[in-house]
Amino acid sequence: MTSTCPFCNSESVGIFKIPRHPHAIFKVVEPIPRLDFSIERCSTCGFIFQGSAYRDPNYDAAITSLYQAYISKDETLTPFPEKIDRYLPALDFIEREMNVKRLKSVVEVGCGRGDFLYYLQLRHPHLLIQGIDPTIYPQDQVPVIHQPFSPELLPEPVDLVVLRHVLEHLRNPSQSLAAFRQCLKPDGWLLLEVPNTPDNLRQRIEVFTPDHVSYFSPQTLAAHCRKAGFFVHAILDNPGLPLCVICRPQKEFNDVPENQLADVSDTELEQYLQDVGQTLELVKAQLPKKLAFFGAGNLARWFISRLSKFGSEPRLKEEGLVAAVWDDSTTKQGSGFTV
Ligand SMILES: [Zn+2]
Repeated sequence: MTSTCPFCNSESVGIFKIPRHPHAIFKVVEPIPRLDFSIERCSTCGFIFQGSAYRDPNYDAAITSLYQAYISKDETLTPFPEKIDRYLPALDFIEREMNVKRLKSVVEVGCGRGDFLYYLQLRHPHLLIQGIDPTIYPQDQVPVIHQPFSPELLPEPVDLVVLRHVLEHLRNPSQSLAAFRQCLKPDGWLLLEVPNTPDNLRQRIEVFTPDHVSYFSPQTLAAHCRKAGFFVHAILDNPGLPLCVICRPQKEFNDVPENQLADVSDTELEQYLQDVGQTLELVKAQLPKKLAFFGAGNLARWFISRLSKFGSEPRLKEEGLVAAVWDDSTTKQGSGFTV
């Protein structure tokens, strides 16, 4: 079963599925919600999205419990501020493309604990910073409004809206982008940062995860911005880095030409899926030797469910398939599979 493309309403084609997928493998979430996870691609515009997030009435409840685990991870693993490395591509991109001295007010939607805003203000102390994030952390490190985003939360339009690793979590991203435009001054700026899907596919990074609803290429992200009434000022599309776009409310400006933007090619997608399939066959050939997984992520779950005779409900101890699973997140210990 497939969905209709949320961008252009055309038919979509299913590309990656995990039946009864556990939407968390964290101790803090019990019982673990399971959904039929399905990634689809629009046959007309090429947009890749999680069909299950649009179709399954239980999606919102399942994903809310997964987000609860994010908080616990942030609190236990990373002291504030997190190392600057994760924030450098966007910080440098802003400084290259904007005259930051002329900006006064910056809002980050989905700011978490505020690490990015902290670093931005450290470099530019004149900026008035404001975060918006419904999650409440024990101590706010920057000023944060703890509510789900709505344009009415801000008393007046701002110069820069930052949206880092937010848009890929949202359904109907062009509608959300249009709402963010309402908070901007007419000559304001919007910075978007999302995972770079074509680059991740090429680098064989684990791409499809239950908390990501939208999977952008430079081309499909630019198309969403245009549909929401922005023009695309600049795109950062470098191997190994997230995809960043700076756009501005549409006026008479010229934007980045569409034919210069990379998209996910059918060949790249097929190659990725083929490689994952081949690895699965290689692993199967090694059975009944015991397996060890480095990383308790989505692909590990996908592999285990395909190797187990109990499918999506593997019983690791009884089956003796898996000797160990390593993961640097302490919150992932113990659950998710029937161990
Ligand atoms: Zn489409």
